[in-house]
Amino acid sequence: MWEDNVRRVVPYVPGEQPRVKNLIKLNTNENPYPPSPLVYKAMREFDCYDLKKYPDPNVGELVKALSETYNVPEDQIFVGVGSDDVLATAFLTFFNSDKPILFPDITYSFYDVWGELYGIPYEQIPVKEDFSIDINDYLKVNGGIVIANPNAPTGLYEDLSNIEELLKKNTDSVVIIDEAYIDFGGRSALPLIEKYDNLLVVRTYSKSRSMAGIRIGYAFGSKKLIKYMLDVKFSVNSYTMNMPSIKAGVASLKDPDYFKETTEKIISTREWTKKELKKRGFSFPDSMTNFIFARHESLERDYIFNKLREENILVRAFNGERIKEYLRISIGTDEEMKRVMEVLDKIV
Ligand code: PMP
Repeated sequence: MWEDNVRRVVPYVPGEQPRVKNLIKLNTNENPYPPSPLVYKAMREFDCYDLKKYPDPNVGELVKALSETYNVPEDQIFVGVGSDDVLATAFLTFFNSDKPILFPDITYSFYDVWGELYGIPYEQIPVKEDFSIDINDYLKVNGGIVIANPNAPTGLYEDLSNIEELLKKNTDSVVIIDEAYIDFGGRSALPLIEKYDNLLVVRTYSKSRSMAGIRIGYAFGSKKLIKYMLDVKFSVNSYTMNMPSIKAGVASLKDPDYFKETTEKIISTREWTKKELKKRGFSFPDSMTNFIFARHESLERDYIFNKLREENILVRAFNGERIKEYLRISIGTDEEMKRVMEVLDKIV
């Protein structure tokens, strides 16, 4: 009978991670460039002797480096194992009311999974026909608001003035702005944490810092917000961040030039890719991220997906009534995107 008492969940399905040689992997919005050389150096110099001890539960070294890089006091920073961990902790910490939390119907598909897991009532607010968000739709009674900006999988950026408008009018619940892709375009909501003590801005190393494999995410917010999150973290697992990750995370922050160079390269490849996709009959919302969410004017989505796959190019296709014609294509290197265009020429 034990199964009667199991907490049953329908889990989030992450993108495939096939270990196939010569695969052009454009399905999980990873960075095509490697981490900074300083990260390589930090990993080489890491002394395994230290592993006999527990890591710093406060992740002090990394919090300090983040504080210096982003000019935010240390007690306003939270670090977790990828932004998924940070977001899950935030959901568990802040969304504890009977009122529904609000997020778009087309957005990061982990939000509703956490809603279900933690028993948080939620309402998915339909985005407009063009996939944009109407902030006015969020001006109602709620237990919290979550907006990915830029949004995934659409790639659309919501102007910061609209985010501030929302914060001005929504002071009674926590607002999470998930900025996983902000380094590829748009203005961050980070400066607003000074004005709004209910704003949490969440970021990740997985995209712009080329370190999806290290699993580091972080959040900025008021002292109070961060304290509440830390209380929950220390009630689940104190030692979330392992020693090598902390070293690697700090090293990445010490190389701003490399960070700038690689993000700029991705932005320029993205703009080139937009033009090339248009020439081949694709349309898409105007992406400010490291991916493009595109549909073809005449060819079936799954046909294109399978043909690309036959040529060793992996992209992502989501189920869902409103997005079933779309492919999400992460931005790779120039060479990779040229190869995609060659293959698309054959297909379309
Ligand atoms: N938020 C959004 C909008 C994302 O697309 C992703 C990547 N899947 C994440 C958060 C989580 O990324 P990570 O856990 O790798 O930091």
